[in-house]
Amino acid sequence: METSGTVIVYHGVGSSPPDRDPYHMLMPIESFEWQMAFLARKRRVVPLEWILGGRATAGRPAVAITFDDGYRSFLTAAAPVLGQHGFPATLFIPTGWIGESMRWEPQPADAVDLEIMTPEEIQACQDMGYEIGSHGHAHAHMAALPPSMAEADVAESMERLTGILGHRPRYLAYPWGEHSATVRGAVEQAGFQAGFSINQVDAGQFGRERVAIRRSDPRLVFEAKTSGRYLRARMSFVPRLTLRLMLPALDWYRRQR
Ligand SMILES: [Zn+2]
Repeated sequence: METSGTVIVYHGVGSSPPDRDPYHMLMPIESFEWQMAFLARKRRVVPLEWILGGRATAGRPAVAITFDDGYRSFLTAAAPVLGQHGFPATLFIPTGWIGESMRWEPQPADAVDLEIMTPEEIQACQDMGYEIGSHGHAHAHMAALPPSMAEADVAESMERLTGILGHRPRYLAYPWGEHSATVRGAVEQAGFQAGFSINQVDAGQFGRERVAIRRSDPRLVFEAKTSGRYLRARMSFVPRLTLRLMLPALDWYRRQR
């Protein structure tokens, strides 16, 4: 089954100097506000399940909004903006990190503290109508784990989240978007209904594609990324070649800013 819209991925929302956010986890609030206003004008924001079900076909390009890692800034910074537009969103929580701070990447001493929500805050998101899914338990490179460890991670995450939500979560997003046939099988086996990657072309119900939105994206790139044609165009030969030639220049440009 073809997906019929674009699923976009954010992490945190908030302002911090780029050098204190070495993994580019934070979308500045002014950019996020502009992006949501653009979606309200030019796109149709729909629940994730509509895109999975192929319901979002007619009219303006459909977009579903997701947030990985369960950062508290979803509640404090993103949800108020989403609420202004009445947009639905889905959050993917790494259950082993609930109530902690992001430490799965080495953090320089002066890096911004990326706090992850507590169980009560996750419940508050659910009460506000946001869908809560799993981002695995340990935020591990699942495709690199022995199969039994990947299965245990997925199962643990399902159990923890079921306890917090009061029902089974429906969806899982792979940490770093990394998956394999084994991992996809484990996610299906654990009772999830779909799995999501990042920046990879669709690999079926347990490898659904999503497009990452980055703070360095100019507005035109955001418009292209939410047009419904981005990943397929990016993966075709000519744009790939163009990108390979342009990326060093873009990197240089980014470092100057
Ligand atoms: Zn993540």
